[in-house]
Amino acid sequence: MNEHYEVLVIGGGIIGHSISYYLNKSGVPAIVVEKHTSARKSTRAAAGMLGVHTENKTSGIYHQFCMTSRDLYQDLSKELSELTAIDIGLSLVGMIEIAVDHGQKNELLSKKTSFPNLEWLEGQQLRDRIPHLKYALGALYMKEDGHVEPTNVCEAFKKAALSYGGELVENNTVLGIEKKDGVFTIKSENGLLTAEKVVVASGADSGWWFESTGLKNPMVPTKGECFSIKPRKNYFKEALFLNNFYIVPKPDGRYIVGATSKPNDQSVTTTAGGLSSLMNQVFSIFPDLKEESFQDYWSGIRPGSTDGFPIIGEHPTLSGFFFATGHYRNGILLAPATGKMIKDLIVNRGVHYQSFQDMFSPNRFQIQGGTLYEYLR
Ligand SMILES: Cc1cc2nc3c(=O)[nH]c(=O)nc-3n(C[C@H](O)[C@H](O)[C@H](O)COP(=O)(O)OP(=O)(O)OC[C@H]3O[C@@H](n4cnc5c(N)ncnc54)[C@H](O)[C@@H]3O)c2cc1C
Repeated sequence: MNEHYEVLVIGGGIIGHSISYYLNKSGVPAIVVEKHTSARKSTRAAAGMLGVHTENKTSGIYHQFCMTSRDLYQDLSKELSELTAIDIGLSLVGMIEIAVDHGQKNELLSKKTSFPNLEWLEGQQLRDRIPHLKYALGALYMKEDGHVEPTNVCEAFKKAALSYGGELVENNTVLGIEKKDGVFTIKSENGLLTAEKVVVASGADSGWWFESTGLKNPMVPTKGECFSIKPRKNYFKEALFLNNFYIVPKPDGRYIVGATSKPNDQSVTTTAGGLSSLMNQVFSIFPDLKEESFQDYWSGIRPGSTDGFPIIGEHPTLSGFFFATGHYRNGILLAPATGKMIKDLIVNRGVHYQSFQDMFSPNRFQIQGGTLYEYLR
């Protein structure tokens, strides 16, 4: 391990490793420092949906960012597989958002007016396509969306970054940072490192880095619980999405069912109540799945933010200090565009991203007259 780096990234989830991949690929040496091992926190819990149209009601800058990121996955799938021999499990088989009441139907029809590329399926058309679905008024078919295998993507970004000369230190917590004479000194459990630039990609644990640099803490860690079943046959191939749950059929035959949403709950338990609420909803419209074998359950903490949008960009007053966090329930979808955006900002190609920069800027959490701590911890 060297002691001085061009860029030090705090956090080895999908966001940190994506940033490292794009930086190292562009010839900017970057190191990721991870508290535990990579892809263990939120990234491991995710279902991996690339839900561009489930996550947006209307078109706009956020929708554009989501689309840009989803589309990056197509080339990445090939590139990462060539570099690392890892299959990221890209499956662009479409997603179906279902309406079970008139309110939901009206919302989906209004969404269709924003996105003419989506197809409306009437109740009978939907049941012809998915015969085991007990009840639905209709659905929006989003044929360009799909899903990936989140831990594979993270592992592939990690290995590809290393193949471009990047570095990774695991089992080492970053404890604090000091900036002197234009250089950051990073205090870690295993000693001091220095870097020209620092990127905070520490997921739900990012709040402290805002507070300690004089900003409002915008993080809303939000627990999500999931389970999986392994059906004996294929009931459908598209990911199904409803108001309060989703079912994602994976290429290996698992169906992932998620997810509860518990803001400000950072406990690691998966509760019986959480799972039973998901099961009740799923089985009410898909009773046949009750007979299929239960496989696993888990939970994770989503890195939510107070306004629901990611925070990607440079600190308003501490130059060279960047944030890439707050991706809430879309960090898998947004990892490629986030990694690329941070890389472009660092190599000074920010202009291309002006609208994204404005929307995701950490400036929105400035405290009027806030103090910048001299020594951050
Ligand atoms: C149940 C569930 C389902 C989800 N489903 C989807 C989905 O279908 N599609 C989608 O796009 N998104 C989904 N998400 C959201 C997605 O998982 C997250 O947005 C994404 O994983 C965030 O990645 P990250 O790298 O920022 O955070 P993490 O994966 O949490 O990684 C952050 C890393 O930082 C490390 N760290 C923290 N502090 C320090 C420190 N001081 N020093 C060193 N390391 C540190 C942590 O150990 C951790 O490894 C889901 C999330 C959950 C919980």
